[in-house]
Amino acid sequence: MTTETTTETSAQQYSFQAEIRQLLHLLSHSLYQNREITIRELISNASDALDKYRYEALTSGQPLEGDLRITIEPDKENRVLVIRDNGIGMTQQELIANLGTIARSGSLEFLKQAKGKGDESADLSLIGQFGVGFYSAFMLADRVEVVSRREAEVVAWRWESTGDGNFTISRVEEPQKRGTSIRLHLKEGMDEFTESVRLKYIINKYSSFVPHSIYLDDEHVNDQPPIWLEPKSNVSEEQYQSFYEYLTHFPGQKPIWHLHLAADSPFQFHSILYCPDANLERMGFGRTDHGLHLCARRILVQNDNRDLLPDYLRFLRGIVDSADLPLNVSREALQDNTVFRKMQKVITRKVLDHLETLSEENPESYEKFYREFGVILREGVTNNDGNRDRVAALLRFGSTNSAGTTGVSLKAYCDRVKAGQDQIYYACGTDQASVLRDPNLEVFRKRNVEVLLLTDPADEYVLSALGTFQDKTLVSIDAAELKLPPETEQEKSDESKEDAAKSGEPAASFDLLVGLIRESLGHLVQDVRRSERLTESVCSLVNSEGSMSTTMQRILRMNAPDFEMGRMVLEINPNASLIRRLADLAGNAENHGFIRDCSRQLHANAMIQAGLSPDGNEMAARLQDFMLQLASQKPVATP
Ligand code: ADP
Repeated sequence: MTTETTTETSAQQYSFQAEIRQLLHLLSHSLYQNREITIRELISNASDALDKYRYEALTSGQPLEGDLRITIEPDKENRVLVIRDNGIGMTQQELIANLGTIARSGSLEFLKQAKGKGDESADLSLIGQFGVGFYSAFMLADRVEVVSRREAEVVAWRWESTGDGNFTISRVEEPQKRGTSIRLHLKEGMDEFTESVRLKYIINKYSSFVPHSIYLDDEHVNDQPPIWLEPKSNVSEEQYQSFYEYLTHFPGQKPIWHLHLAADSPFQFHSILYCPDANLERMGFGRTDHGLHLCARRILVQNDNRDLLPDYLRFLRGIVDSADLPLNVSREALQDNTVFRKMQKVITRKVLDHLETLSEENPESYEKFYREFGVILREGVTNNDGNRDRVAALLRFGSTNSAGTTGVSLKAYCDRVKAGQDQIYYACGTDQASVLRDPNLEVFRKRNVEVLLLTDPADEYVLSALGTFQDKTLVSIDAAELKLPPETEQEKSDESKEDAAKSGEPAASFDLLVGLIRESLGHLVQDVRRSERLTESVCSLVNSEGSMSTTMQRILRMNAPDFEMGRMVLEINPNASLIRRLADLAGNAENHGFIRDCSRQLHANAMIQAGLSPDGNEMAARLQDFMLQLASQKPVATP
């Protein structure tokens, strides 16, 4: 979709890719105040280019040429600001692709989040996070020139644009040094960006951790020590905070926690890891997997390493620096490096240690962490890195013992199970209120047995994937495998008193009733049987052996309409008055037609309670029939 036309100066014209055009429009028209971020973004790009140059030189065995540096050159008179680096530079094709024509996935996402807040007040400070930081140049400038010469090429190229729909590319005739210079022709009113004092302030604020020297008016302006190499006691909260802001381009955001690690043997590394304050994935931003900065002896090898941490910790930001990592290997070869692999293990373990300690020593902070990142952490249960039980112990769930308050851990649950209880029970539903109405919960309530309440289907998936915890099987309360803890002596004697109080159910007629119900429901159910779970309700549907819970099956069916739900078992409460009466009636064959109708209706009722929909027409007809029967028995006038 690139349109090329040749102008008289032999410059070729290109159109910006559609989203970039929108992005430029937003940036040049926004009233957003914090224009300092442009400087941060351009310095950060320059620093990346220096890293790439150094990495390429080191991996190909070439000596480094020249002092790697970033130079900021303000020109008050002409209202121009130049940001120059002697990094890797860009070829003609790279200039075209990187600065305008290749669709960058981040541009669309950035537009979405910025526009969500209304064009004019949009918060543009996050632009760097979305990989489109270069374009922030148009917040300061109404014309931008980029001159770049790629390492190993002779010719340099000029990219130029006024930020409307197009940019031009032309060859630079004069010889150029390796690297890139960005020349900003500042807009009216932007003179402050040629003031050295102001520029120095901005560099100190945002770019003090940039690992390359930044020069302004021949003065070296960034000399922060690398704080990750310092002992913890030497690093102040402010330093941790500003390093976080430097890493994330996230001004003013405080991480929930940070973890500063250092080890000397069996291999040496230093690391600072941060847990961000919010989970952008939960807010619909797609996968936010930034990766870690990976350094070997302070030299950045990769700024987005996604292999050091397992997927379920992908939300962490930070840096890992090791003297034992080879510098001159490719990213792919690094994955197979023994030290690298051991480092993965150690760092994961340290993070899990930290989370454990945090949950014990600072439950409030842990809760905040869990609210944000629990949804990612729980994926660890299906990871086979050997940490599944440790991750499981970090999960939290709602429970009948603490409804509405903080989540319960599986360990806390196991610590207070009944004697002889070898299952962990959970109930599933779309929200707590509906889970609590589940008739299958009745016996648990009566016997005061704790049940975990799951309102997120993914939690059920996690628990069924986990299978067991501390040798206890995890089962859904509507599963066939359910086994209640043995009754205590006290419970047994209460039970027999209750039975004595009831008129005593003739076992034979109950069995007869069950037989009749089974016969009339036929293939609609897998079986009909006496319930051990119900104490109040008349009946309920439960799942047959090995099936998923009803909620889970329902959700699968919503997403895949041809998913067939397993046939369920109808459980009947022998103590419910209606059942007792029907059992009495079952002895007389004349009542069997009526009992058949009742069976169908009981099944329909149980379906509704389980969140399923029975056949509405059939049910309406039957209920009207029942009504008619009752109505026929009412007198027309008072006698
Ligand atoms: P990001 O840097 O996050 O990828 P940008 O929009 O800031 O996004 O930059 C786009 C691309 O342009 C960069 O990925 C890089 O390839 C290239 N680029 C930008 N500035 C420079 C520079 N100073 N030197 C070399 N390449 C650069």
